[in-house]
Amino acid sequence: MAKTIQAIRGMNDCLPTQSPLWQKVENTVKHVVSAYGYNEVRMPIVEMTHLFSRAIGEVTDVVEKEMYTFEDRNGDSLTLRPEGTAGCVRSGIENGLLYNQEQRLWYMGPMFRHERPQKGRYRQFHQCGVEVFGLDGPDVDAELIMMTARLWRELGIAEHVRLELNSIGSLDARADYRSALIAHLEQHIEVLDEDSKRRMYTNPLRVLDSKNPDVQAILVDAPELADYLDQDSKQHFAGLCELLDAAGIEYTVNQRLVRGLDYYNRTVFEWITESLGAQGTVCGGGRYDGLVEQLGGKATPAVGFAMGLERLVLMMETLELTDVRRSVDAYVVTAGEGTMMAGMKLAESLREALPGIRVMNHFGGGNFKKQFKRADKVGAVYALVLGENEVAENTVVVKDLQGGEQETIAQTELAAKLADII
Ligand code: ATP
Ligand code: MG
Repeated sequence: MAKTIQAIRGMNDCLPTQSPLWQKVENTVKHVVSAYGYNEVRMPIVEMTHLFSRAIGEVTDVVEKEMYTFEDRNGDSLTLRPEGTAGCVRSGIENGLLYNQEQRLWYMGPMFRHERPQKGRYRQFHQCGVEVFGLDGPDVDAELIMMTARLWRELGIAEHVRLELNSIGSLDARADYRSALIAHLEQHIEVLDEDSKRRMYTNPLRVLDSKNPDVQAILVDAPELADYLDQDSKQHFAGLCELLDAAGIEYTVNQRLVRGLDYYNRTVFEWITESLGAQGTVCGGGRYDGLVEQLGGKATPAVGFAMGLERLVLMMETLELTDVRRSVDAYVVTAGEGTMMAGMKLAESLREALPGIRVMNHFGGGNFKKQFKRADKVGAVYALVLGENEVAENTVVVKDLQGGEQETIAQTELAAKLADII
């Protein structure tokens, strides 16, 4: 026998048993974002490599170690998108969506990062991202956070996530803070690990993110970003906090929260759960007012977030919120001359009469016992039985597969009988 071929490590199939929960999460997300008037945008999965190195920053985990980069047949360096913001901004600029306009956009789809696969961390994973362009006030930042809070409520996970918030100020304010932070790190250079040493001059804020306890220890008395914030950013942040208070959204201000990608300024936030272990961030976002200009567009304020759908699905599984609608309502069982086509016609007429009903026809023959077994296996509520007599008399036997009762009714009454199961 030929050797079987396996999927790439960290890239998973979504199997038929899993897809109902995925669809529930995806549909809830779509429903929530459209409730705020946001529009979908779909970008290619592959972009020019330098889009990501320019947007995300050369000295970030994503660009340094996680990108799937390859040369195509023309010799261009291309990369499977590791996130959606860069492509969204590229598309907005290229298609003239951003200049002097407001855009409220969302997208959903696969992203690729070459990380060590583990629970909640994969090499192909899925994000839903939301990006708003052309609005610079804290009101839109608050709306994005309220939108995510609504989503958690609709998914039933609101009790299991908490919000962390910070402002990382303007680019200038960060430059001042950077020098102060570098000076502090230089005093403790012997404690820093290789990663931190390498980042210290290029991207010292990332050192704050370090998971190394020794590095964390020397950060205790490091200068605080909050002391370097510019007046406008302080005001912006105060405005955001006020709006969140008014909306009844709880948060903690985490001075250490800087987020992994270079393009953020002012507001940064993360929604974190304790129910997934180490991979606890389900959603992260913030403002990136400089990115559009950095990618060649006219200066345009922007803010957005991205959430990891695998982590949301995992959370729902962990919390046993997996009760999704069965995939089959009625299963058509037939036996005898001419009954198969009659069964398919009956199913079609039900689909006409009751949009949304899920009817499955039995194929492949077999006696009633075998057919009822199949009906049970797919989780149908009713079996609809057609023998030669029923076909001749335009009736159908409706069998309740849970209760076991059955009755013969006219086919014209069937839709009314099944109406309440959808
Ligand atoms: P982490 O700190 O967990 O690596 P990140 O800061 O790299 O996350 P972002 O780039 O902000 O993540 O992406 C937004 C969200 O996408 C994350 O909060 C997470 O839910 C999800 N995500 C990121 N990387 C992965 C991955 N490799 N597998 C699954 N989900 C991921
Ligand atoms: Mg990461």
